Amino acid sequence: MPRCFDSARNAPEFIQGFFIDGDWLFRGLPAELAARTLIPDQEFYGPDQTGALPGEHVSQSLRPVHELGIEADLRDQAFGTMRVAVDIGLLGERFRSQMLHLAGVGAMLILSLATGLALLLRSVSHDLESARRTENFVSAVTHELRTPLSAIRLYAEMLQDGWVEDDAKRRVYYQRIVRESQRLETLVERVLEKGRLTSKETQVEPGDLNRVVDGLRATLIGPDEDPARDLVFELEPELPSVLLYPEGVRSIVGNLVENARKYAPVPPGGEPIRVVTRRAGSAVWLEVQDRGPGIPESERDRIFEAFYRVGNETTRTAKGTGLGLHLVALQADAMGGRVEVVARPGGGTIFRVHLVQADEPAT
Ligand code: ADP
Repeated sequence: MPRCFDSARNAPEFIQGFFIDGDWLFRGLPAELAARTLIPDQEFYGPDQTGALPGEHVSQSLRPVHELGIEADLRDQAFGTMRVAVDIGLLGERFRSQMLHLAGVGAMLILSLATGLALLLRSVSHDLESARRTENFVSAVTHELRTPLSAIRLYAEMLQDGWVEDDAKRRVYYQRIVRESQRLETLVERVLEKGRLTSKETQVEPGDLNRVVDGLRATLIGPDEDPARDLVFELEPELPSVLLYPEGVRSIVGNLVENARKYAPVPPGGEPIRVVTRRAGSAVWLEVQDRGPGIPESERDRIFEAFYRVGNETTRTAKGTGLGLHLVALQADAMGGRVEVVARPGGGTIFRVHLVQADEPAT
């Protein structure tokens, strides 16, 4: 030990400590920290700013000398309190804007969830509907194919085995074979027609609608039928020429008349089915009108979809494949027109095909 400490040799007592600059610790440092860390609506009030806070604020007081537990002389304790004040107005505004933001995000979330669910449901029900229609079609086509085939085979076998001795009866059986094979042919033709219409464009040209429709009289009414019985033609004279192709018009009239006879058969003495042509402003209408049961409004859009049939396979009595009206819609579309179905005043249905007037006369 150095000699200068000799006097302290008997009862040494050392006191250690350090001096902190109070001004720096309680003024400079907090002010600098506050400037770096506080957000705009928070304010720092140092030990010298002891007055009331301006406006509406909430504040948190800090008593540094007391809280740090340091020994300080009375002068330094007077550094008193520091405060961090938060502006209530701004806080409320921020709270409201964040709530709005949150509500917006929530609403978006709910909306996207609902949209997703709706899309999913739509796609599932669309798939289910399409599967149901395909199933309906397969069973309808199978039925439509099997029935005439079985009948043809049965009649042919009976004739071949010589079971029918009566000439008149034999003639009836031959007629049935012809009729059933025609039915088969129609089915095959329809499936092929749909394929053709959906796979290639059709050439339309200015044509005389009345001439094409009138050409169907013999086929539709038939030589043995009484023309006044279940079908009449009412063709407006002097119709302007329209864009058409004859095969399309024949298919439309054929399908609509067949349907009217199937779903709205004319009772004895009843009002006949009407095939009508008429001018309607800049368009020309081709209509088939019946006095049948009509078509429920909820079904009117759907009946033009491929393979769609009203009701279901087990309850339906009329035979069909659900292709007839779809073909009518495809043909009308191919001629630049459209088809609609409307309830006929006084009962029944009107199928109306809107055709486009041509700029040039019929060729
Ligand atoms: P299909 O006759 O092979 O069932 P369509 O496409 O021709 O197919 O017709 C679709 C459905 O529209 C039919 O199942 C039938 O219920 C209904 N329908 C068609 N024409 C008429 C009509 N004139 N009157 C009442 N219902 C009809």
